[in-house]
Amino acid sequence: PDVINLIAAGEVIDSLAAVVRELVENSLDAEATRITVSLMPNLWQLQVTDNGKGMSVEDLRLCANAHSTSKIRDRQDLWKINSLGFRGEALHSIAQVAELEIFSRAAIDEIGWRVAYQEGKLVTEEIVAIASGTIITVANLFASLPVRRRALPSVNQQIKLVQNIIHQLALTHPGITWQVWQNQKPWFNLSPGMTAKEILPQILKRVNLTDLQFLKLDVAVPEESEAKSNLELVIGLPDRCHRHRPDWVKIAVNGRIVRLPELEQTIITSMAKNVPRDRYPVSFLHLHLPSHLVDWNRHPAKTEIYLHYLPDWQEQVTQAIEKALTITPI
Ligand code: ADP
Ligand code: MG
Repeated sequence: PDVINLIAAGEVIDSLAAVVRELVENSLDAEATRITVSLMPNLWQLQVTDNGKGMSVEDLRLCANAHSTSKIRDRQDLWKINSLGFRGEALHSIAQVAELEIFSRAAIDEIGWRVAYQEGKLVTEEIVAIASGTIITVANLFASLPVRRRALPSVNQQIKLVQNIIHQLALTHPGITWQVWQNQKPWFNLSPGMTAKEILPQILKRVNLTDLQFLKLDVAVPEESEAKSNLELVIGLPDRCHRHRPDWVKIAVNGRIVRLPELEQTIITSMAKNVPRDRYPVSFLHLHLPSHLVDWNRHPAKTEIYLHYLPDWQEQVTQAIEKALTITPI
């Protein structure tokens, strides 16, 4: 209960995109390498299938309870969060606002299970034959909340938000095979083993990214000799005529896109020194840091964070950019 109080009420399911984000993040936490998303936005329905480690029947019975998480057990764990989820609120919240059905088989189990929830309550539990992994179906989202439904943006706008979530998750978790369907038509696909440098042009479709540079560096963690960290940097210059989103500068920390305005400014400034004035850089920086250096609790949506030793990271990022630009000037 103490831990529960520490965990800010965060994961609010307020849109289709929020459901997609939570389900896909669970697949990533389960170490899936293949994720299929099937979206039927007009029916308020979607399905996420993964080949991750799956759930036991005990997990399946508990996973939609309030604060049910297998990822955090005590107060100490809050300071070393490595998973995307940790509050144990997503499935619980989804089960309150939609029909939730889960098929799952843990890799070590011989049989799989199907459970169904209605209005948050477990109503079905049966044995099923499935491959190891998990299939989660969410249907009739917000059916009991017509006011919420009406308050949401148009279907097209919601689809854009979903697309954005999927793009971000794909970019921050390279190597995953993606199959995303919308109304049973292919919508976004990534073949196995793609790198961030290969994924970025898929996401920024309208931009002709010819000379992307990629750099991966081990970086020293201030005041710690043992801690291992690295940064991955993809930078480039789109075509001269490119005018849309002049500031496509994104930062991810440990698999999550974050807002770190100070570090974004560092990137913009150091690139500005090196590129012609009429061309706008594109940059994706991914920091992999020991989790105790990151404080995710700045904001419930986990998009704004505090980074310890920020000036040191600014310095290291500046050096990395200069290095990338000397290796192959753009
Ligand atoms: P959290 O991700 O914060 O732990 P969720 O409500 O998102 O909470 O999920 C509850 C639990 O259900 C997870 O901790 C995990 O044990 C299990 N779970 C959910 N989705 C999956 C999945 N796709 N594969 C394996 N386990 C899952
Ligand atoms: Mg989760």
